[in-house]
Amino acid sequence: MSTRRKLHMRNIIKKALKASRGRKEPAYVPVFHSSSKIRRTVVLCISVCMLFMVCSTGVAKALDKQDVPQKMVAVIIDDLGNNMKGTEQILNLPVKITVAVMPFLPTTKQDAMEAHKRGHDVIVHLPMEPKQGKPEWLGPGAIKANMTDEEVRAKVTAAIKDVPYAIGMNNHMGSKVTSDKRIMSIVLDVCKEHGLFFVDSRTNYWSVVPELAAKKGMPPVRNDVFLDDVHTLAHVNRQLTKVVEWLDEHDTCVTIGHVGVSGMYTSSALHSSVPKLKEHAKFVGISDLVRAVWGWTGDPATNTTMPSDAQ
Ligand SMILES: [Zn+2]
Repeated sequence: MSTRRKLHMRNIIKKALKASRGRKEPAYVPVFHSSSKIRRTVVLCISVCMLFMVCSTGVAKALDKQDVPQKMVAVIIDDLGNNMKGTEQILNLPVKITVAVMPFLPTTKQDAMEAHKRGHDVIVHLPMEPKQGKPEWLGPGAIKANMTDEEVRAKVTAAIKDVPYAIGMNNHMGSKVTSDKRIMSIVLDVCKEHGLFFVDSRTNYWSVVPELAAKKGMPPVRNDVFLDDVHTLAHVNRQLTKVVEWLDEHDTCVTIGHVGVSGMYTSSALHSSVPKLKEHAKFVGISDLVRAVWGWTGDPATNTTMPSDAQ
């Protein structure tokens, strides 16, 4: 190839290279830089968002724990004191509950002391005359509508002294007596004098107890859900679902079950539902609930009779 021809070829290659650089570089470099910037911006945004989410979740959890009061469920189990079916299983529940012990019965003291030893609350389960029902269902020491003021006062005082560690009281039956203002006023007065509050079991829709209690500066606390008014396991489980539904709309739930005919169903259903209920509320004794909700300061320790072997 002649020198002239070589020079000509070199010029052609130079021009081609120059042309290709001139076309590609200005177009290519800004595109690379801009996509890198976008990528970096997107990564930065995602990181900030994730950090915000983690922080806000953590803050929400901390607020939940510290600032939002936890909901409370108080389970009361009635009819202890007569070695009834399910007593041991109920006392074995792994959460704090309240046992309502009937006075003057064979295992009154034993059940009350055992419950206290295991950290449960104890209340007196005072028999009261119902509108219907057999008198023998009432048990000893019952309050009847035809009693004088003095008789009522004496019966309530004796019942409080018979149940060790009692910090409150509720009614066994009593659909007739709990709608009687004269009698219930005396019952509440005696309770208050002994540092006890009264839980209305709600055996009568027309009960005067919450209204009277509020007037006397006592907690107007009452039963919200009966667990075992029908004696089947399926019913108790349905009622426990109602407890959860109640807690969705209220801050507290008082729920009453029994030992005896339904004792095994109630204890078994409660044992199985403890983890689920714990997701919705804290298990408390009824004394914790009345202190937290109504600021109750009654101090029954100096008023109740402690058996000599209770230590
Ligand atoms: Zn009862």
